[in-house]
Amino acid sequence: MRIDLHTHSTASDGTDTPAQLIRRAAVEGLDVVALTDHDTTRGHAEAIAALPSLDRDLTLVTGAELSCRLDGISMHMLAYLFDADEPELLRQRELVRDDRVPRAQGMVRKLQELGAPVTWEQVARIAGDGSVGRPHIAEALVELGLVSSVSDAFTPEWLGDGGRAYVAKHELDPFEAIRLVKAAGGVTVFAHPAAAKRGRIVPESAIAALASAGLDGIEVDHMDHEPATRARLRGLAGELGLLATGSSDYHGLRKTCVLGEFTTDPEVYGEITRRATGAFPVPGAGGPARTA
Ligand code: AMP
Ligand code: ZN
Ligand code: FE
Ligand code: FE
Repeated sequence: MRIDLHTHSTASDGTDTPAQLIRRAAVEGLDVVALTDHDTTRGHAEAIAALPSLDRDLTLVTGAELSCRLDGISMHMLAYLFDADEPELLRQRELVRDDRVPRAQGMVRKLQELGAPVTWEQVARIAGDGSVGRPHIAEALVELGLVSSVSDAFTPEWLGDGGRAYVAKHELDPFEAIRLVKAAGGVTVFAHPAAAKRGRIVPESAIAALASAGLDGIEVDHMDHEPATRARLRGLAGELGLLATGSSDYHGLRKTCVLGEFTTDPEVYGEITRRATGAFPVPGAGGPARTA
C-alpha cells in the first residue's frame, strides 16, 4: 500500500487541477492520496468526480492544510476527514482563506515599492480561483525574470518569512484548530513540524502541549526534514503517543518533490480512518486494486 497524505492542487498553490492530481496519483501507483489544499476544501468535488474514470483503484482522503500561528511562529495543521459543512470550522477556514487576498495585495504593493513591476492582475491570473499564496507571487517574480525559481523567492530579499516584501496573514490558534477539527469529526496532524529552513519552528514543548490538547499526529517523513530530524521526530511521536505520518507535500511544478516521495504506514493510515467520524475516505470505482 502506498499512501501519500499531503498534496496541493490548483485549489490552492499546486499546479495540477484536482482531477489531474487524482489521475497522476493513480499513474504513480498510489493506493491512497489525501488532497490537503491550504485553508480550503474547494478541490474536493472535482477530485471525487475524477475517481470513477481511473483504470485502477485509488482512495481519496479529503482534507485541508490549515494555516496556524503559535507564539508568533507560523505552522501548518493537516486536517483529515472532517465534515466540510460543519459551520464553525467552515467559517474559520473562510476567514483565513479570504484574508489571503488583501495580504497578497499587500505583498504586491511592497514589491512595487521595491521596484519590482509585479501587478495584482498578474498574481490573480496565476492564482486563478485557488487560495492565493506566496508561491503565486513567487511565480510572478519568475515571469518577470527577477528570480530563477519559485523557491528562490523565499528569501529575506523577497517573500521569505519576515522578508522585505513579506506580509503576515490571518492564522488560527492551533489549539483552536485542533478543537474545531475534532468537533467536525476530523483528525489533525502537525505538518512538517521541524522544517527549519522555512522559518522558525515551534519547540518540542509546544508539540507536547498540542498532543495534550488532542493533536493526533505529526508529519515525520517530509522533504524538509533531514534523516536525523526524522529519527528525532519519530522518537518524539512515540513518547507523546502521536501518530507518525509521511507524505510528499506535492505542489506540481512549484516544488521539486514528486507524488509518493514519502508515504505513510498503512497501520497509521488505518488509525486515522478509525478516528475520523466527519467524512469517509472515498474509494475509487476504477479497476481492481493493483497487486504488484
Ligand atoms: P503562504 O501560505 O502564502 O504563506 O505560502 C507558504 C507556502 O509556500 C507553503 O505552504 C509552501 O507551499 C510554499 N513554500 C514555502 N517555502 C517554499 C520554498 N522554499 N519553495 C517553494 N515553496 C515554498
Ligand atoms: Zn503550498
Ligand atoms: Fe505546509
Ligand atoms: Fe503543504
